Amino acid sequence: MPTKYLFFTGGVVSSVGKGVTAAAIGLLLKERGFKVVVQKLDPYINVDPGTMSPYQHGEVFVLDDGAETDLDLGHYERFIDIRLSRASNFTTGQVYAEVISKERRGDYLGGTIQVIPHITNEIKRRIGLVAKASGAEIVLVEIGGTVGDIESQPFLEALRQMRTEVGRDNTFFVHVTWMPYIGAAGELKTKPTQHSVAELRSIGISPNMIIARSDQPIGQELLDKIALFCDVEKKAVIPMETTPVLYEVPLLLEKAGVGDYLVEKLNLNATITPNWSEWEHLVSNVRKPKPTLGIALVGKYVELHDAYMSVRESLKHAALALGTEIEIEWLHATDLEKGRGWELLKNANGIIVPGGFGSRGIEGKIQAAKYARENKVPYLGLCLGMQLMCVEFARNILGYEDANSTEFDRTTTHPVIDLMIEQRAITDMGGTMRLGLYPCVLKKGTKASLAYQFPQVEERHRHRFEFNNAYRNEYESAGMIFSGISPDNKLVEISELSDHPFMVGSQFHPEFLSRPNRPHPLFLSFVKAAAHRAGTPINDE
Ligand code: GLN
Repeated sequence: MPTKYLFFTGGVVSSVGKGVTAAAIGLLLKERGFKVVVQKLDPYINVDPGTMSPYQHGEVFVLDDGAETDLDLGHYERFIDIRLSRASNFTTGQVYAEVISKERRGDYLGGTIQVIPHITNEIKRRIGLVAKASGAEIVLVEIGGTVGDIESQPFLEALRQMRTEVGRDNTFFVHVTWMPYIGAAGELKTKPTQHSVAELRSIGISPNMIIARSDQPIGQELLDKIALFCDVEKKAVIPMETTPVLYEVPLLLEKAGVGDYLVEKLNLNATITPNWSEWEHLVSNVRKPKPTLGIALVGKYVELHDAYMSVRESLKHAALALGTEIEIEWLHATDLEKGRGWELLKNANGIIVPGGFGSRGIEGKIQAAKYARENKVPYLGLCLGMQLMCVEFARNILGYEDANSTEFDRTTTHPVIDLMIEQRAITDMGGTMRLGLYPCVLKKGTKASLAYQFPQVEERHRHRFEFNNAYRNEYESAGMIFSGISPDNKLVEISELSDHPFMVGSQFHPEFLSRPNRPHPLFLSFVKAAAHRAGTPINDE
């Protein structure tokens, strides 16, 4: 079978769930026995989102190979339960960097370098690359942004060319749009969808399917209208009302016939009938009323929940497995510094300090760690959260008042968290951290090893600073256990307190490997500890 390509474009506005739609459709195809891969094309000029503010971009999702990618890759991995590679995300910045470096090398033999064909060729080359590297039968490609944006034009042009080059039978365009609701008229409107399809057609692309997103139920007459005006088969106009249950999206699309339609139109030879019982079970569990657990997340970018997307999802996965529901209390670390938000922190049954960079809010996070330690509140520290748990321990248990990470205080007399030697000479910010999958050996009998039930694991990293080994013995004598260590014994990967129900910090980011049906062991143990503290009965007891 020739490789099949599904292209996802967005119309009207952004943030309508194009990434989730692509992920869910990927699952529909995987469930029919196909090997799929997903790729996100981001039309911005940054080389990758690694150096972008989470306020601008949300979370940076890290892959096994250390690629720092768009948060949609997290949706793809979680829904389809796959592990993606660097080839699955590229930006305008990467495309231009490649073309310009080829031009400097003289590869174009004096030619004039232009958007068409040089930039579009590079875009097509990269789409081909992910197809080849993954060996997938079906490649799903999502284009970031909205049709009509100037910066996405070269991408759409490349896709238009691909349609002719790999053949119409092998390509399929899904356009995800938004239907606004006009309160005064009490009506949903199709006009913006019509306009965005017109825009798409003006560059030579006719969508094969329209997924109409809306906050209200969409009547058949509106769907028929879209079909008529946008020149799409009636069966291929799919209503997609907003659902509070994210993981229901694949089931809704399946019910709307999307999977079967794709099989028919792409001439796919589906070998397996999808079995949705696991997902149906998951969704019915989400819908069941459950006791709620309050977890405080003490962060820096808390106004934008997308900045902590994978942490939030991992908490949901763990809670679901245990038959509880998590209510996250989003706390600004700087508020704690000013004496605000403490009531909320104190009411929480667990505290999470997630990853972060830069000094804003650091002292507030250290105070939260101190509170968790002293009051025996379950605590999970993710990367920076682990580092600050160690700083707090040095200050208040070892008595080193000015202990700190050299990221925040270069002149501290007790640099308990410090730069790795290899990192010291690096001046570039982009892609220069310890990134991606590294092994971690677990110490028997610890909370970490009890959680994992494996002697060795591999987890994804994204950090520059490390626990300073000069202090290891002192910490251990005072009650800290380094329960996860790199196999060469050089790097602390997990630290935990002996005299505490659950105070665990990991130098890596467990949140990138949690799955809806397979919660991450550290999150599971953390939520269990929180339920225990709250006296909430949970499933496994
Ligand atoms: N800023 C810290 C470091 O670079 C922690 C990074 C993180 O939390 N991802 O080591």
